[in-house]
Amino acid sequence: MTEPVDPARPADHAGGAVHIVIVGAGFAGFETARRLLRHQRSDSDHPVEVTVISPDDFMLYTPLLPDVAGGLLDPRFVAVPLAQALPGAHLVAGRVEEVDLDGRTLEVRNREGAGETVEWDRLVLTPGSVTRLFDIPGLTEHARGLKTTTEALYLRDQLLEQLELACRETDPEIARARRTVVVVGASYAGAELTAQLRALADEVARQRDFDPQDVRFVLLDMADRVMPEVGEKLGDKVLEVLRSRGIDVRLGTTIDRLTAEHAELSDGTTVATRTVAWAAGVAASPLIDSLGLPAEKGRLKVRTDLSVPDHPHVFAAGDAAAVPDVTKDDAITPPTAQHAVRQGKVVARNVLAGIGVGSATEYRHNDLGLVVDLGPRFAVANPVGIHLSGYAAKAVTRAYHLFSLPRGANRMAVAAAYLGDAVYPRPLVSFGLVSDDEASLARSQGIPTSSES
Ligand SMILES: Cc1cc2nc3c(=O)[nH]c(=O)nc-3n(C[C@H](O)[C@H](O)[C@H](O)COP(=O)(O)OP(=O)(O)OC[C@H]3O[C@@H](n4cnc5c(N)ncnc54)[C@H](O)[C@@H]3O)c2cc1C
Repeated sequence: MTEPVDPARPADHAGGAVHIVIVGAGFAGFETARRLLRHQRSDSDHPVEVTVISPDDFMLYTPLLPDVAGGLLDPRFVAVPLAQALPGAHLVAGRVEEVDLDGRTLEVRNREGAGETVEWDRLVLTPGSVTRLFDIPGLTEHARGLKTTTEALYLRDQLLEQLELACRETDPEIARARRTVVVVGASYAGAELTAQLRALADEVARQRDFDPQDVRFVLLDMADRVMPEVGEKLGDKVLEVLRSRGIDVRLGTTIDRLTAEHAELSDGTTVATRTVAWAAGVAASPLIDSLGLPAEKGRLKVRTDLSVPDHPHVFAAGDAAAVPDVTKDDAITPPTAQHAVRQGKVVARNVLAGIGVGSATEYRHNDLGLVVDLGPRFAVANPVGIHLSGYAAKAVTRAYHLFSLPRGANRMAVAAAYLGDAVYPRPLVSFGLVSDDEASLARSQGIPTSSES
C-alpha cells in the first residue's frame, strides 16, 4: 500500500483555513513562513495553512557561501533544514514553472520531472535572483557562479584539484594555467570569494611546499572601484589589501571570450586558466519574467505594502521584487539579505491584515550597512555608517553572521569552525562530488541558457 503524500492543498482547507503559498525558501520566503506559522500556532480564530515551495529542503544562508568555497565551512553549516525550522508548514520540493493569477493555481515540477498543480488563496512570490549573465561567448559553458552550495563546493574542489594536478604537471605552461584563477565581479560577493580562495590556495602552498605567489588570482570588474557598496574609503582599503595578497585586480576590465583553457580579457590580454568564477551581479529569478506583469530592472513591481498592483492577493519580496525604497526618492531597495528578511516580515503582516488580523503597513527600512569578510585577519564593515576595517570589522562581521543565522545548531557549527580556523590549518579536502555539468549555471541555478532555448 502506498503512503499518503503531503497534500499540496491541505485537506482542512475546506474547513475555512486560508491557504497561503510561498514560492521560494530564501531569506524573504523563510521569514514570511516563520511569521505566518507563529500566527497559525497562536490564533485559531483566523486559521491559515502555509505551503512553502522550494527546489531545496533548506534555507541557504548565502552570505557564507564564500567561506564554503574557501574550505572554511561545511555546506551543511549554512543550510537551515526547512522541516525542522518551519514546523507546521507543508513543504513541496520543486520549482514553480507557471503561475495562473486568475485561476489561483501554480505548476510545480520536481527533480524527477513530475508536475503538480497547487492551489492558493494568497500567493507570496520570493524566488530570489540568479547570477546575471552577459552575452559573452563561452560564459555559460565555462564559468561557474556562486549562488548555490553546488557551485561553492565545485569551486573549492576545482581549485584543490587543479593545484594538485599542477604539482604533477610537466608542461610549465599548463601548470601555470592550472594555478590561475579568474574571478569576475569585485563587489562584495566576488571580493569575498577571491579572498577565501586565496586563503585556501595559500594553505595548499604551505602544505605542499611551493611559493603561494605561484598561484595567480585575477579579479576583474567593469567598474572603476572595488566594492562600491562600502564607499570610497573602505573600497580603497579593500583594494590595497587584495593587491597586498598578490591578487591582480583589474578595474574597467571584463571577459570578452571564454574557452575551456583561457579567458580573453577586454584589456587585450589573454589569461590561461582552468577556473573562472562569475560573480558579476544578479538578475531576478526567471519565474518573474514568465508572469507577464510590470517589472523594473527585471524585478516584479510591487506597492509599498509589497502587494502586486491589480492583484491584491499576491505579494512579492526580496531580490525578485522591485520594492520602492520609501527612505529615498525614486529608488528601489537593493538586492540584499538585510532587506529580504525585513520584507518577509512585512509580507506576513500584510497577508494577515488581508484576512482580518492586525493592520497593514508599508515597507520602510534604513539600510544598516554591510559586513564583508575578506579572509584571514581582515574584513570591512560599515554598520550604521561607522567605517571599520581589520580585526574590529572581522569581529563585527563574524558576530553579525552568527547572530543572523536562523538556527542554533547552524550557529554552533559555524562558531566551532571559526574557532577551529584560529587554531588549526584550513582542512584541504576535495570530495569531487559535484560534476562540471551539475555546477553549470543552467543546472545549479535553473537559468535558461541559449543552448537550451
Ligand atoms: C555569495 C553571496 C554573498 C552575499 N552576501 C550578502 C551579505 O553579506 N549581506 C546581504 O545582505 N546580502 C548578501 N547577499 C545577497 C543575499 O544573499 C540576497 O539578497 C538574498 O538571498 C535575497 O533573498 P531572497 O529571499 O530574495 O532570495 P534567495 O535567498 O535567493 O531565495 C530564493 C529562494 O527561491 C527558490 N526558488 C528560486 N526559483 C524558484 C522557483 N521557480 N520555484 C520555487 N522556488 C524557487 C530558491 O531555491 C531559494 O530557496 C549575498 C549573496 C551572495 C550570492
